[in-house]
Amino acid sequence: MPEMPQAAKGFGVTFKAMFRKVVTESYPEYKRPAAPRFHGRHQLNRHPDGLEKCVGCELCAWACPADAIYVEGAANTDEERFSPGERYGRVYQINYLRCIFCGLCIEACPTRALTMTHEYELANDNRLDLIYEKSELIAPLLPGMVAPPHAMVEGTDEKDYYNGKVTGATAEQIAAAKARQEESVR
Ligand code: SF4
Ligand code: SF4
Repeated sequence: MPEMPQAAKGFGVTFKAMFRKVVTESYPEYKRPAAPRFHGRHQLNRHPDGLEKCVGCELCAWACPADAIYVEGAANTDEERFSPGERYGRVYQINYLRCIFCGLCIEACPTRALTMTHEYELANDNRLDLIYEKSELIAPLLPGMVAPPHAMVEGTDEKDYYNGKVTGATAEQIAAAKARQEESVR
């Protein structure tokens, strides 16, 4: 009967574990908040009037060690302006099959257009959907913003935008956007 005490010892370990504090988490019902500097999905930010901060310079793509970013810049015109500068990011893609979430791209961005969010639920069942397009990365329009393309706030230049002098869309920008929308449905 030498096995019996061993077996009792084994059950004893199980029995003790039943009264220990549970360390498992009920994910996905409970989502533990990420650390403040957590590197999650990227976001392309906007100025307070809705214009895009990305100037299509490609510095993020050059800084990326995994070659995960593809950018194609294009020139803004007076009729079609997406950012306060000369250029904007016409095509912007991040390949999350390659990204290692190192954050070098956001360090390289000169306009703070690119930042990382706390979103980490990026699993997918097909490879194509893990290449995020600009439409998926661009920040949503907040109250007080107008969807580009639209003109800059009257009397301001690019520097004013980066110095935080633009605080939201003006009545002129809102009226112009409304007129453009009405024109497009006619
Ligand atoms: S986080 Fe790193 S790997 Fe991912 S896109 Fe940015 S630079 Fe590339
Ligand atoms: S996200 Fe920043 S670094 Fe990348 S293209 Fe846009 S402005 Fe340049």
